[in-house]
Amino acid sequence: MFDNHKREINYLRVSVTDRCNLRCIYCMPKEGLSLLGHRDILSYEEFLRIVTIAVNTGIVKVRVTGGEPLVRRGIVEFMASLRKISGLRDISLTTNGILLEKYAEDLFDSGIRRINVSLDSLEPEKYRRITRQGDLTRVINGIKKADRVGFSPIKINVVVIKGFNDDEIIDFAKLTLEKPYQVRFIEYMPVGITALEDGYGHISNDVIMEAINRFTPLDAVGQNGKTDGPARVYKMEGGRGEIGFISAMSHQFCESCNRLRLTADGNLRSCLLIDNEVDLKTPLRNGCTDAELENIIKNVILNKPMHAPIRCHEGQRKKCARTMSSIGG
Ligand code: SAM
Ligand code: SF4
Repeated sequence: MFDNHKREINYLRVSVTDRCNLRCIYCMPKEGLSLLGHRDILSYEEFLRIVTIAVNTGIVKVRVTGGEPLVRRGIVEFMASLRKISGLRDISLTTNGILLEKYAEDLFDSGIRRINVSLDSLEPEKYRRITRQGDLTRVINGIKKADRVGFSPIKINVVVIKGFNDDEIIDFAKLTLEKPYQVRFIEYMPVGITALEDGYGHISNDVIMEAINRFTPLDAVGQNGKTDGPARVYKMEGGRGEIGFISAMSHQFCESCNRLRLTADGNLRSCLLIDNEVDLKTPLRNGCTDAELENIIKNVILNKPMHAPIRCHEGQRKKCARTMSSIGG
């Protein structure tokens, strides 16, 4: 279905938990973040009902995210149940990769083929610092296992923080020479109550692209340049994989935004950067009909805002009440 600005809304991101086994510096505060209570989080049955109804409104693509989706018990069975919803053409998962080695095979057997793994440093000590506790080896082993069992494409999400991991841009780009991965450079967004430490900050993807181009020229993929969702996609000469740039801050893509977000506590959010949310959990738990729920979702789609209220220029801060971990990225 189309919104009031003639955008076709067909993509739903579903955050199945606000909990995480990491605490990335750009996503969650170090401490003091209150987490949802068990009763407040939607059950898998409730998620499945909402997704099934959302498909009637034209949703064809679902990405499961979090928090960390692999920490929620029953996630593999949930992915398998999503696969049974007729009308869904594309089901994928975004994970930090810590538990991927353990779950890759079962996830593959559940029928999903597309996976995004977030990885912001290839140096163990820096990885531990950016995630405040993570073990890089586990993520690398998780990616290798996902590759072995047959996931394709495997996309590696890299949030680049000036002063922290911008010196690893070429190392990440070089991964695509040997592996068929899509490495995606994501601009840091100042969302939520996290604050980067002094000295760290936003860096535009234009700067990253220039750095890679100096190393080896990038070719746009496809005749007119390929886009993959919000990512502009390129290849290094001789590379097996691709390099994507997601530039939400320097080149906003509101005009082509096709997505809704469902939070773990059952709120439907039509813009990442706007806190207006519509509560689906209360009507759901009060016994509303499918038709009533469908109408609520349709209204959210129709009224999806054209732009975030302020343009997010470099350095400009937009505060959202939620952290990324509770929206799902
Ligand atoms: N825990 C999973 C993971 O890290 O992949 C899924 C949830 S995480 C919130 C989803 C994506 O949002 C990750 O790729 C993460 O890097 C990205 N993200 C989190 N905070 C961000 C921020 N402030 N700016 C840009 N991307 C962010
Ligand atoms: Fe957890 Fe993902 Fe946020 Fe890192 S980016 S704290 S892994 S939810």
